[in-house]
Amino acid sequence: MDKLSVYNSLTRKKELFEPLNPPFVGMYVCGPTVYGNAHLGHARSAITFDIVYRYLLDQGYKVRYVRNITDVGHLVNDADEGESKVEKQARLEQLEPMEVAQRYYNAYTRDMDAMNLLRPGIEPRATGHIPEQIEAVQKILEHGFAYEVNGSVYFDVPKYHEKFQYGKLSGRDLEQILAGSRSDLEGLSEKRHPADFALWKKASPNHIMRWNSPWGEGFPGWHIECTVMSTKYLGPKYDIHGGGMDLLFPHHEAEIAQSNACNCHQPENMQDEAKYWLHNNMITYEGQKMGKSLGNAISLEEFFSGNHPLLAQAYSPLVIRFFILQAHYRSTLDFSNTALQASEKAYKRLNEGLKRLDGIQPEGKVVAVNEAFEQNLRTFLDDCRAYMNDDFNTARVIARMFDALPVVNQLYKAQGKTFAVEQETFRQFRQAFHKVFYDWLGLKAETEEGQQHEVIDGLMKIIIDIRAEARKAKNWALSDKIRDELSALNIKLEDTPNGTDWYYEK
Ligand SMILES: [Zn+2]
Repeated sequence: MDKLSVYNSLTRKKELFEPLNPPFVGMYVCGPTVYGNAHLGHARSAITFDIVYRYLLDQGYKVRYVRNITDVGHLVNDADEGESKVEKQARLEQLEPMEVAQRYYNAYTRDMDAMNLLRPGIEPRATGHIPEQIEAVQKILEHGFAYEVNGSVYFDVPKYHEKFQYGKLSGRDLEQILAGSRSDLEGLSEKRHPADFALWKKASPNHIMRWNSPWGEGFPGWHIECTVMSTKYLGPKYDIHGGGMDLLFPHHEAEIAQSNACNCHQPENMQDEAKYWLHNNMITYEGQKMGKSLGNAISLEEFFSGNHPLLAQAYSPLVIRFFILQAHYRSTLDFSNTALQASEKAYKRLNEGLKRLDGIQPEGKVVAVNEAFEQNLRTFLDDCRAYMNDDFNTARVIARMFDALPVVNQLYKAQGKTFAVEQETFRQFRQAFHKVFYDWLGLKAETEEGQQHEVIDGLMKIIIDIRAEARKAKNWALSDKIRDELSALNIKLEDTPNGTDWYYEK
């Protein structure tokens, strides 16, 4: 494919990517709710849109990439009842809600940096945009698509549906939901209809995060922040809205409705918020959904350290990135130790190939052209570009890189004898390989330093285990010898209730 096509969830088909105002591209991605450590699902969504961002930048677009931080309004129960996720965690950790948000935002950034993601241009926080959210709620009320009950404001889905189509993104047939028995709900909730959602919630007396509003003290609903912050930084209609498939309904459906309700008096601004809605698929564990209640929700930190009962070993951040890129973003991705170990091996092979490629010096050698080799290298960049243009098919790009490795190995071995491809073809190929590896896929060579750390960690674990066994057998001579000799290397051991830690003594 010569031109970039993307799968648009809104139209349910692949479409040519044509930005509204080239060369500018506005992209908004739903970021994390910062009340816990990031897990594999967060990594997949962030990496998916990191690839989109990198590729658009490489195509010469000027991209404004906005990814929000949800630090208020996301309730434990998606039905607009129950505690706020951030506040609940604050109570558990005995912290201010803002401390919780900052702590997990820092952890999220640390993990994403480790996987070599480019940081977005703007990371707006919901709590930093309360006045704008109040204004938007007022506008929706004025336009007749919301109602106030007892200090809370709800979006009136049936009213909106009379004029627009609620459910157009998710493909849910709202007629059916709307025809559902309204009477069942009476008295159970403030909402007039089960499909309605909160724009503003009245704060109960013990709710910590609260702001003044025309409806009394309260806090914004979860969906309104994304409509408001994307409008503020990208305008009422922009190019790409991204997120995980789990956000498609109700979150993104609600965003579209809010945006159209806000802009209905200016039809030219009504474009369902974004032109292209992109969604990455979910990650499963051995075929199962992942979740805290299932005991298989592994944080990225745990992947990086190997510190989780379900993990056979630690996996480096770049191996996790590579594993995610080995599948197309719209396919489900199943992880297991076997799958991750296979990725680790493959990534190592790719790194070795890259090292060999960089070590090849084609200059001044006799050229004996091998047609097949030449062809493989010459078509490399066009092939990779065609795969990326086909809705960012990183899986095929990676497969194509592996196709080129045997040629690289042959050339590496043949150095000093004959060189089987034209030198110019080779130089262009090397440049192209770097572009794909570093710029498009955002991979990094695993450094030798990183590998050494891994080896030292492994060796220390062996030594600590031997010492523990010696102590158990009351072999004090051996356990003291181990401690003293490590101490001579400035390595100090510290026995804790959870085992023995080690660190370098300054
Ligand atoms: Zn969002």
